[in-house]
Amino acid sequence: MSRPFKPYPFSPRHYEGVVPHLTNGRDPRGRSVAIVGGGPVGMTLALALARQGVRSVLIEADDGVCTGSRAICISRRSLEIFKRLGVVQGFLEKGLPWTGGRSFYRDTEVFRFAMHQDEEQSLPPMINIAQYQIEQLLLDEVQRHADLIDICWQTRVTGIEQKPAGQGTDGTEGAGGATLTLRTGDTAWRMHADWVVACDGGRSTIREALGLKLTGTTYEGRYVIVDIELNSTRPTERLAYFDPPSNPGSTVLVHKQPDNVWRIDYQLRDDEDPESAVQPENVMPRVQSVLDSMGETGDWSPIWITVYKANALTLERFRHGSVLFAGDAAHLVPIFGVRGANSGIDDADNLGWKLACVVNGVASPHLLDSYSDERVYAARENLSYGMKSTEFMAPPSFAFDLMRTAVLSLAERHAAVRPLINPRQTHAIAYVQSPLNDASTRAAGAFNKGPAPGTVLPECRLKRMDPDASADIHLTDLLEPCFTALRFTAGANAQQDTAWQQLRDSLAKQGIPFKDVTLVRSATADAVRPHVMDHTGRLHDMLDATPGTVYLIRPDGHVLARWRDGSAAAAQHAIRMALTI
Ligand SMILES: Cc1cc2nc3c(=O)[nH]c(=O)nc-3n(C[C@H](O)[C@H](O)[C@H](O)COP(=O)(O)OP(=O)(O)OC[C@H]3O[C@@H](n4cnc5c(N)ncnc54)[C@H](O)[C@@H]3O)c2cc1C
Repeated sequence: MSRPFKPYPFSPRHYEGVVPHLTNGRDPRGRSVAIVGGGPVGMTLALALARQGVRSVLIEADDGVCTGSRAICISRRSLEIFKRLGVVQGFLEKGLPWTGGRSFYRDTEVFRFAMHQDEEQSLPPMINIAQYQIEQLLLDEVQRHADLIDICWQTRVTGIEQKPAGQGTDGTEGAGGATLTLRTGDTAWRMHADWVVACDGGRSTIREALGLKLTGTTYEGRYVIVDIELNSTRPTERLAYFDPPSNPGSTVLVHKQPDNVWRIDYQLRDDEDPESAVQPENVMPRVQSVLDSMGETGDWSPIWITVYKANALTLERFRHGSVLFAGDAAHLVPIFGVRGANSGIDDADNLGWKLACVVNGVASPHLLDSYSDERVYAARENLSYGMKSTEFMAPPSFAFDLMRTAVLSLAERHAAVRPLINPRQTHAIAYVQSPLNDASTRAAGAFNKGPAPGTVLPECRLKRMDPDASADIHLTDLLEPCFTALRFTAGANAQQDTAWQQLRDSLAKQGIPFKDVTLVRSATADAVRPHVMDHTGRLHDMLDATPGTVYLIRPDGHVLARWRDGSAAAAQHAIRMALTI
C-alpha cells in the first residue's frame, strides 16, 4: 500500500531488457553463478565475486534501481564491507553520518544513546542514505566490472529446476546446477547455472518455486512511513517520540536523509484502517503536528507514503543443493534496529568469498554449508534483537504495552530501566559456533582477551612504514577480500620471513587469495620495512598481541584463527582446513 506524491530528488536511469541469442530457447553460455535479484544484496554479492575474479549474471525484474521508501540506515559493518569491496567512498560522500539518538516520553526526554565512536574509527557508526542511492552506488561499481558481471534488466525468473542432490558432474551435492526459466518482455527463455543465488527479496520466486517456507513471527502492528521534503539544519540523529502530545497514543520515529528528505514513521492504532491511513487528508495533519512539536516551521511536502508491518521470519537453511539464499529472500527482519539490508549485505560478504573459492576449484562445496550455518545463526540473532525492538516500538499485546508504559514512565528518574528503551541498533554478529572455527582453533594458545575466532576485528589507527615514507592508516585499510595474516613481531626474522614468502607463493599458485602484514610496536621502528607500526600500542593491547602472535583473518573480516606463537605452517593448515571442511 504505497502512495507516491512527487519524485525523490534523484534521477533514476532506466535500462532495456535484452534477450541474449538463444539456442532452442536457451542461453547457450554456461554460467557459473546466476544471481536472481539486483537489489542491494544481489549487487553486493556480484561485486564480492568479481573481486575474486568470478563471473556472474545478475537477473533483475525491474528496469533500474528501486523507488520508494525503503532502507535508510547503513551501519559501520556494512561500510567496512563496502570498503573492502572498494565502493565505500560514494557512501561516505553522500550519506549523513550520525552517532546516536534521543527518545521522548510525552514531552520529556527520557533516554539518550550513543553508538561506539572514538578517534580510532575510520568509519561512522551509521550513515543515513536512501536505498535508491545505495543501489545506484552499487550499480555504478557493478557497471565498472562489466567484464565480470552481466546484467539482464527487465527479466523475471519464473521458475527453477535443479538436479537432485548428488547428481553433480563431480558427484558432489549441488555441483549439478540449476536451470532457470525467465521472461524478458514477451520472450520466455532458459538459462543454466552451476550455482544460483536467490537475492529476489521478501516475496522470493525461487523460495516459492522450491516450496520453502519462512518461519517465525508476523506482527499485526502497522506503521505509516512518510518521506517528506523539508529544508532543515537540524543535526542527523535518531529521534523517537512515545505517546507524544502531537500524536497521542502513537510512537513516532524521525530520521534525516540526504537532499532534504526526511523519514517520519508513526504507529497506527489497532482500530485504524491502513487503507485510509495513507490518504493525504489523514497523513498531512499528523506529520504537521509532529513537525510543529519539533519546532520545524519550514515548508514541507510529501514525497511517498506507505504502510509497514514487521515480520521476523527466516528459512531454516540458506543452502539447498546448488541454490543459495541471501538477504530478504532468506530472512525478513523488522526495520526497528535497521538489520534488513545491513544483514543482507553481511550475507553477501560471507557468501562471496566462499562461493568464489568453490567456483575457482580451491574449496569443497561443503564450505557453502558453513555459509548457511553462520548466516542462519546471524539471522536468528538479528531476529531476536529485532523482535525485542519491535515489541517496544509497536507493542503486540496489552501486556507489552503495559510494560512499555511502565518503563517510559520510570525512565526519566530511574537510570536502571533506560537500557530497555535502547533501539539495539545493528552490529556485526560473531560466529561463535562456526564449523570454520573448529578447524582453526585447535592449535591456538591462550589469549586473555581480543577477538576470538568467528569475531570481527576492532578498528585502530596505525602507520604504514614503507622504505621511504610513512602514512596514517587504519586496520580496516589492511583488510582486503583475501585471507590476511597479521603477524606481530619484534623485528626481522629471516627464517620466518622465508616461510611466509613460501606460503604466499604457494597459495598464489593455487589461486587462494592471501596476504600477510608485519606489525610492530613503535619501539621497534628499526624493524624491516615495509611494515605497519602500531604507534599507540592500542592494537597490541586490544588483540592481546605479543611478538610471535598471529591473527589469521578471513576474506570477510572475521577471525579464522589466532596463535600466541604463530607460523606460516599453522596459517597454511588453518586455511586448508577451512577450505576442505
Ligand atoms: C520502510 C522500510 C525501511 C527500511 N529501513 C531499513 C534500514 O534503515 N536499514 C536496513 O538495513 N534495512 C532496512 N529495510 C529493509 C531493506 O529495505 C531490505 O532488507 C533490503 O531491501 C533487502 O535487500 P535484498 O536485496 O535482499 O532485497 P530487495 O531489495 O527486495 O531486492 C530484490 C530484488 O529482486 C528483484 N526481483 C524480485 N523477484 C524477482 C524475480 N522473480 N526475478 C528477477 N528479479 C526479481 C526485485 O525487483 C528487487 O530488485 C527497510 C525496509 C523498509 C520497507
